Amino acid sequence: MSPTQAVLEAHTNGLYSSRMKDAPAPPALIDPFGRVVRYLRVSVTDRCDLRCVYCMSEDMTFLPKEDLLSLEELDRLCSAFVARGVQKLRITGGEPLVRRNVISLFESLSRHLKTGALEELTLTTNGTQLAKYAEALRAAGVQRVNISLDSLDPVRFKAITRWGDHAQVMDGIRAAKAAGLKIKINTVAMRGVNQDEVEDLVAWCGTEGFDLVFIETMPMGDIDGDRTAQYLPLSMVRARLERRWTLSPIADVTGGPARYTRCVETGGRIGFITPMTHNFCEACNRVRLTCTGTLYMCLGQDDAADLRRPLRASKDDGLLSEAIQEAIARKPKGNDFIIDRRHKSPAIHRTMSVTGG
Ligand code: SAM
Ligand code: SF4
Repeated sequence: MSPTQAVLEAHTNGLYSSRMKDAPAPPALIDPFGRVVRYLRVSVTDRCDLRCVYCMSEDMTFLPKEDLLSLEELDRLCSAFVARGVQKLRITGGEPLVRRNVISLFESLSRHLKTGALEELTLTTNGTQLAKYAEALRAAGVQRVNISLDSLDPVRFKAITRWGDHAQVMDGIRAAKAAGLKIKINTVAMRGVNQDEVEDLVAWCGTEGFDLVFIETMPMGDIDGDRTAQYLPLSMVRARLERRWTLSPIADVTGGPARYTRCVETGGRIGFITPMTHNFCEACNRVRLTCTGTLYMCLGQDDAADLRRPLRASKDDGLLSEAIQEAIARKPKGNDFIIDRRHKSPAIHRTMSVTGG
């Protein structure tokens, strides 16, 4: 019998709740490599209103709606992680803002900001719905938002996102800025697609006061095209930027996977997320939860833990907390990403929209 089965059994026999009654506050989540897990990313839906070429194929099959956890269940799951020391929650997707009533999730989770248990509640979005929701997000305690934007050119933007309307996203970005949200732009760098725009993106973000993070394409999910053709090492992006801009390294203050530099001329921060060209795993303090309650301990590995069963098995969070503990005890050391001509199929078959970026 596995430890989780044993706990489930004990619970069914009524042993668990009596044992837990006088228990001290549960300890923080520490993985086998001594990394303390403080950061949970939650994909609240696998659906999206765009079809970015590196992320999804055009005719995606999404999960049946009834498989999704309710917003109340997602709140309970997030809160169980907060009770175990998670200080940062990032809501993502799919496109998180296309999930119906998602603002109510932000509103309810904001109670953990008020108690101080949670340091940050934030989201990653493609920006299409921000004109509608930026104010409400700010009112719910969100202070920063990551917005994905791979091109400043409307025609190119359309080609990358297949269904996207550049003007709509720009309206969203303006609304977020006007609402007082701090903005970080995420740009996936792609060979032959937006390579020639990287200097202009730095200039634009500098003028707008946005941080900018470049991301390498990761081999996740079966997409329609050839990934080896898209893949652009960020060392090349950086070399290109340094022909026009002076980049001086700064200490990472975000706790995320990006390595940061400051652009001396614009004063803006430029980050590089390079899962492919060097390991971003050593200081990883993150785990990822899907909208069906599956916990992935690493973005680049398949091992996962089902949290839906312990969540639904009991009204109190004892079982859930045990299942989380057990999952963290299996967090691997690092990812196994590789893109080369011999490895045409993705390293990971789920798309980024399942686990959230
Ligand atoms: N829909 C939202 C968005 O686009 O911001 C949130 C989810 S999306 C999966 C999160 C981030 O993952 C985006 O910045 C996107 O560009 C990035 N992403 C998606 N698939 C990727 C891949 N295969 N490699 C690298 N980044 C990817
Ligand atoms: Fe949708 Fe984000 Fe994936 Fe683009 S990257 S298809 S916006 S989930």
